[in-house]
Amino acid sequence: MQQWDVIVVGAGAAGLMCAIEAGNRGRKVLVLDNGKRPGRKILMSGGGRCNFTNIYTSPDNFLSQNKHFCKSALSRYTQWDFIALVQKHAIPYHEKTLGQLFCDDSAKDIVEMLLAEAKAANVQIDPYQHFWTPC
Ligand SMILES: Cc1cc2nc3c(=O)[nH]c(=O)nc-3n(C[C@H](O)[C@H](O)[C@H](O)COP(=O)(O)OP(=O)(O)OC[C@H]3O[C@@H](n4cnc5c(N)ncnc54)[C@H](O)[C@@H]3O)c2cc1C
Repeated sequence: MQQWDVIVVGAGAAGLMCAIEAGNRGRKVLVLDNGKRPGRKILMSGGGRCNFTNIYTSPDNFLSQNKHFCKSALSRYTQWDFIALVQKHAIPYHEKTLGQLFCDDSAKDIVEMLLAEAKAANVQIDPYQHFWTPC
């Protein structure tokens, strides 16, 4: 029987990033989802071009009961880390207004990037093939 260190429920943006990070830290990771394909909401985002980050993102842009949470989270993974990932995958992008970054072509590029990173981190996504249709 297969054994997993981490089981992530939901192959959305949050679940895929979490799975990639855990996989890169050497954990054996499984991602399950009850939908038809991974990253469906990402595909809709930014009018289909995914507004994937903002170059001026700072803890002041977030509302939280614990204002220190955003400071610590953003200091450990910044918008520049995500931009570096997008550049590593040679995804063309542009700045729109007020620092918003969008894919030139399609939000599909971001989903494919996350799936490629998950694969590289040995993350198993939906091995039971509930939902697998190519995006
Ligand atoms: C029209 C639209 C445009 C947007 N534009 C942008 C944008 O340009 N930039 C931006 O940053 N954000 C944008 N957003 C918001 C962004 O898409 C979401 O914040 C983000 O995708 C949420 O990711 P998530 O992983 O938290 O949740 P989700 O993407 O909702 O992922 C959750 C996953 O869990 C699965 N799931 C749920 N319940 C179960 C269960 N019981 N068992 C198994 N699987 C389950 C679902 O099938 C889904 O795949 C937009 C959202 C919409 C709707």
